[in-house]
This record gives sequence, structure tokens and C-alpha cells, in this order.
Amino acid sequence: MEQKVKKVVIAGGGTAGWVAAAMLSGQLGKLLDVTLVESEAIGTVGVGEATIPTHKAYHRLLGINEQDFMRATRATFKLGIAFENWGKLGDRYFHSFGSIGPSTWMTDFQHMWYQARSEGWAGEMDDYCFELQAAEAGKFATSEQSNLNYAYHLDASLYAQFLRRYSEQKGAKRIEGKISNVTLAPETGDISSLQLEDGQVIEGDLFIDCTGFRALLIDKALGVGYEDWSDHLPMNSALAVQTKVSQEIVPYTRSIARKAGWQWRIPLQHRVGNGHVYCSDFMSDDEAHSILMDNIEGELVSEPRPIRFVTGRRKECWTKNCIALGLSSGFLEPLESTSIHLFQIGVTRLVQMFPFGGANDALRNQYNRYAREELESIRDFLILHYKLNQRTDSDFWKQRAEMDIPESLQHRIDLYTKNGIAFQEGLDLFRIDSWLQVFRGQGLESNGYHLVGQMLPNGQLKQAMTDLKQNIVKNVSNMPKHSDFIRQYCGIDNVQ
Ligand SMILES: Cc1cc2nc3c(=O)[nH]c(=O)nc-3n(C[C@H](O)[C@H](O)[C@H](O)COP(=O)(O)OP(=O)(O)OC[C@H]3O[C@@H](n4cnc5c(N)ncnc54)[C@H](O)[C@@H]3O)c2cc1C
Repeated sequence: MEQKVKKVVIAGGGTAGWVAAAMLSGQLGKLLDVTLVESEAIGTVGVGEATIPTHKAYHRLLGINEQDFMRATRATFKLGIAFENWGKLGDRYFHSFGSIGPSTWMTDFQHMWYQARSEGWAGEMDDYCFELQAAEAGKFATSEQSNLNYAYHLDASLYAQFLRRYSEQKGAKRIEGKISNVTLAPETGDISSLQLEDGQVIEGDLFIDCTGFRALLIDKALGVGYEDWSDHLPMNSALAVQTKVSQEIVPYTRSIARKAGWQWRIPLQHRVGNGHVYCSDFMSDDEAHSILMDNIEGELVSEPRPIRFVTGRRKECWTKNCIALGLSSGFLEPLESTSIHLFQIGVTRLVQMFPFGGANDALRNQYNRYAREELESIRDFLILHYKLNQRTDSDFWKQRAEMDIPESLQHRIDLYTKNGIAFQEGLDLFRIDSWLQVFRGQGLESNGYHLVGQMLPNGQLKQAMTDLKQNIVKNVSNMPKHSDFIRQYCGIDNVQ
């Protein structure tokens, strides 16, 4: 077959642009000519600093060494997210990346736990999750020493620089300049070139739109519309600010619900990323600013930066010869840190489905279906956090609790409340343990469960669960402190 698509042009050099460049040059560099155009004058959003465990799979594909990556991006480990004030004011629960107890072919662990609880001897469900207990204790060790499922917190601009070095070593070219025009081929409507303000013309066969919220190619040039999801996910504003490290760095993100939104805290080796995501229909920018300033710790190392967005998705991520990755393809809000994953998986799928013989509808439709289904399931998971709140202290939270939700989510809630069942299917990103932790953390109880626990010989369930809990306590107590582990593992002294 003749290779018709060889020259790939990536527009934009934020995290999405360099994630795409690294993957395409690292995996298909022998067959492709990869060029990235970015404008220092425009800059990047640069706030995506919390990740999920799939990040490790992306690095494995690229052959990235974990210690090199952590040193270069001043990264810390992340075992999950602590949600504060999300159920009721003063509540706290953990969505960890771990498994809660072992499952059997017949049922998942929660059914045995419900049995134990009905007999009056179960601990908290959290007691049976290693990652959760390690996080709460501020402990960490990597997988050779312990089998933890984890992700990272990283410095977004250092990460883009790290991936830039990687991509350039693999042959990707970078061009500095501002794109002023996108030229379409009259006969096909495909993009034929990008024009820069300085007069350069960059031609290509396939274009990746990583221009962020501007969506210069997919929207401005090709007119692909946006599906607005703000009825369900009404956040539309954020303020981001960085502070010096003033406390022990914890191996988890903090998400603290506020009056009409929530605040994040992401500890890195050298600083803490803070932000306040809010809905401007319910809160002025001034109020959002004061809430953030009143609730940060440590000296400021940057000024609060405002960011506006509309939650939703690009109706088609791949149209003509253009694929949108990153913020140009949609944004759901950062509650479960899923954006970086979405463009990592987006570019991984592109490598798997690369249109060497030319893009066609069958390929585009399949790619777009994957992107849509995965995003819809993440959307449902995010809505769940809001829908299940029991706060009565502000109109924002009351309206969230009363809002209509997608049928797909209502089905999950019904299945759980009536039967104790959670599931992961198809392109669902979040595992059963994730759904369970958020259901329970937000105060949703199940009225039914499988009676598998009653089938076990007398005392066996109790023994197994007691052993599991004790092993977790023992393993956690033997682990080093998170910051000590980073110091030793990465060979660096200045972890605060
Ligand atoms: C408040 C907030 C918090 C977030 N937190 C997280 C998180 O914790 N975890 C997570 O996974 N994600 C998070 N995200 C999402 C994450 O920040 C983005 O997905 C990520 O930064 C990728 O952005 P991007 O590369 O698509 O766009 P950008 O960073 O905006 O980059 C756009 C690029 O396009 C270039 N460009 C634009 N116009 C032109 C032009 N005319 N000519 C040349 N170049 C141009 C810019 O120079 C830049 O290089 C968060 C987002 C927000 C808004």
C-alpha cells in the first residue's frame, strides 16, 4: 500500500501538543515526519498537574524512566483524591486508585463487606484498601517494594519541556511562531497548510489541533461545533495560584468543596498548585478570589490566574484530516484529573489506527465513537459527585442535588442502591472501586447485596477480612514516608 500520510503537523505546544509529538515520533518516527508549531507569545494553560494511573502506561510505551521523569518535572506520587465537604460540610472521603478487598468470580468484595457489616464486625470499607491507607498515612513505595496503584502530580510546564526533549531526540521538529491562517484545499476541504505571522507556510498531510480552548483548526477553520454540557457540569471559571511548600507533601490531591465550586491542592516537590474552580452564575470573581486566598497555605509564588471554560465536548474529534487533542477537543473540568489521560489515550489510538492510506469515514467514525463513549462515561462519574451532595448551605449545592441526570447515571445509582452492584464496561475509565468509593463517600447506601458471604464456611470470611486488614496495617507501617521515598528514589535532597 502506498503511504499517503507522512507529514504530521501538530499545532500547539501545551501538554497536549508535546504528549502527541512524543507518542508519534517515539512510536512511528521511522514512518512519519512530525513537526510541532507553537507560540511562546501565546503560552499555555499550564495547570494540568494531577494525573491518573494510566499515565504510567503512556510512559511505558515511550520507554520513559520514572526517576528521570520525576526529577525533571519535580513530580510527587498520587494515590487518589481526598474529597472534603462534598457530601455534607465537614465530611471527608477518599477516592483512591486502589482495589477495595479481593473480588471473586461471583461477586465483588463489597457484597462480603455488607454481610460482615450486617453481622456487626466489619471495619470501615476503607480499611480494606491498601492505597487508601497508605495515602492517609502519608506513606509511599513503588511497585517493586509494594504493589500500589498510583499516578503522579507534576509541574505542567516542566513536563512539556521534558516531552519536548524526548520528541526532538526522536526526530520531531519544533517551529516557533504564531499561526495566522489555516488554508483548506478547495477540492476536499482538508487542511493543506498553516500560515504563520512571519510568512512561513507549513504544509502537512495530517494536522493535530492542540491549540487549546482556541481550537484554531477543528473549530475556527473546519467549523466543528461544540456540545455544551454545562447543564450538568456548570463550572465555568477557575483561579490558579502556586505557593511554597509549607507542610509535609501528601501522596494525594485534595479537593475541598466550597460555596459554589471546589478548591484543589496539588503538592509537588518544590511548590504546591492551588486553584478554585467555580460557577460564575453563583459566585462573583471577587468572592472566588477571596475564598481561594483565605484558604491557601504557604507563601505565594505566582499571582492568581483566571481561566474561563465551557464544559463539554467537540462534536467530532476527528474530521477531514484534522484530529483535536487536549482542550480543543473538549473539557469536563478537572475534578478527577482526566484531561491528560484523554489526550494520551487519544494519541495512542491514533497510533493504533494511523491513516497511512489516507483518512476515511470508517476510521474517523470509529475513532470518534471511542472518544465520545469514553468521555460520556467520565461525564457521568463527575456528575455523580455533584448530584449526591446533601449540602443545604448554598443554592449552588441545592440545585446540583435536584438536577436531572443522564439515564446512564441514574441506572448506575439504581443498580447500586437496590443491589449493591457497581460495574465497569466498554470504554468506562473508572473502575468498580472508583464508583463504589464515590457512591459511599457521598453518602449513598445500598439496600441489597449478594449473599455470597453466607455461603462461606463458618468464620472463614471473618478470618480472611481480619487478615487482609492486618496485612494492610503492617505493610503501611513498614513503608517510608512519601517525601523520604522520593528523596531516596530520585536521589534528590531538596524535597520539601
Ligand atoms: C483549571 C484547570 C485545571 C486543570 N487541571 C488538570 C489536572 O489536574 N489534570 C489534568 O489531567 N488536566 C487538567 N486540566 C486540563 C489540562 O490543563 C489541559 O488538558 C492541558 O494543559 C492541555 O492543554 P492543551 O495543550 O490542550 O492547551 P494549552 O495548554 O492551552 O496549549 C495550547 C498551545 O497552542 C498554542 N497556540 C494557540 N494558538 C496559537 C497560534 N495562533 N499560533 C501558534 N500556537 C498557538 C499555544 O502557544 C500553546 O502552546 C486542567 C485545566 C484547567 C482549565
